[in-house]
Amino acid sequence: MKKIVSMVMLAAALAAGFTGCGSSSLSGQATNTSADKPSIGCAIYKFDDTFMTGVRNAISDAAKDKANVEIVDSQNSQTTQNDKVDLFITKKVSSLEVNPVDRTAAGVIIDKAKKASIPVVFFNREPLAEDMKKWDKVYYVGAKAEQSGTMQGELISKYWKAHPEADKNKDGVLQYVMLKGEPGHQDAELRTKYSIKAIEDAGMKVQKLAEDTAMWDRVKGQEKMAAFLAANGDKIEAVFANNDDMALGAIEALKAAGYFKGTKYVPVVGVDATAPGLQAIQDGTMLGTVLNDAKNQGIATFKLSEVLAKGQTPSKDNTGYDITDGKYVWISYKPITKDNINDAK
Ligand code: BGC
Ligand code: CA
Repeated sequence: MKKIVSMVMLAAALAAGFTGCGSSSLSGQATNTSADKPSIGCAIYKFDDTFMTGVRNAISDAAKDKANVEIVDSQNSQTTQNDKVDLFITKKVSSLEVNPVDRTAAGVIIDKAKKASIPVVFFNREPLAEDMKKWDKVYYVGAKAEQSGTMQGELISKYWKAHPEADKNKDGVLQYVMLKGEPGHQDAELRTKYSIKAIEDAGMKVQKLAEDTAMWDRVKGQEKMAAFLAANGDKIEAVFANNDDMALGAIEALKAAGYFKGTKYVPVVGVDATAPGLQAIQDGTMLGTVLNDAKNQGIATFKLSEVLAKGQTPSKDNTGYDITDGKYVWISYKPITKDNINDAK
């Protein structure tokens, strides 16, 4: 709307023969429709991701009246994302917010941004430490993946200890299946590892029946879970999913196999606390999840990029968030069950 209005005004000014002396306002593109607000370029790895949609909305809400943030869809292609970043650089945005498609490709983006002197805030997909060191105007906003895995493990061990019937074959060992996110993603690797570590740390014995990636995706989660059920049937005593979407897919497959009716039950845990995830907890099909705070991750990403766009150095004072090692903002996770579901709403 604003863009249309300013274009109408621009047309009117031109028609009136007004050329003005500041050519910048006339050459303005979508990224700097209002000269007083900084223009920021934001690239999301793909729009079709439930959790990232939450982060994206939080960024737009935080930017309202403060900056012109142009948010683009990289469509899960690093090549597309690189092109979008190049375009932002050509448009001379004041800072960048990048959710990398491939986190190991962040170095290339940092090199380009550094050359153009445009600070970058990465978020959700953590660049390698050596890349983060390439330039002092590079930041990362995210959450400690280990923490979310540990919390998932604790949800299951607590359930196991309170429910002796959970050990279906009475062998004293937890037989589980794991639905993994995208391989190489820090959240997929570390949640997979630390959820099981927490179970073992709680003094329990575990046996992995199956593990496969469902790429963060609900439909793939359902397909993989159906395959796990076909191979293992009622031997499965717990389902770990690296995110809620895959957990919800697994729940669909379990429902189709007769679970969640009568006494047929298996505990399923996810991560994110998305709205449909919380609904499943309410319905009793998902045992618990871990709040991945999309709102604060979005706000922090915007705050940092706004401060950087103004040529300042981010600090607790000007962003409201602690900056660790001069580069990192860590947003805490929180375990969620029916008992504290309102904490996630
Ligand atoms: C979320 C997933 C999401 C992924 C995208 C993770 O932190 O838990 O739901 O698909 O980020 O990178
Ligand atoms: Ca068992």
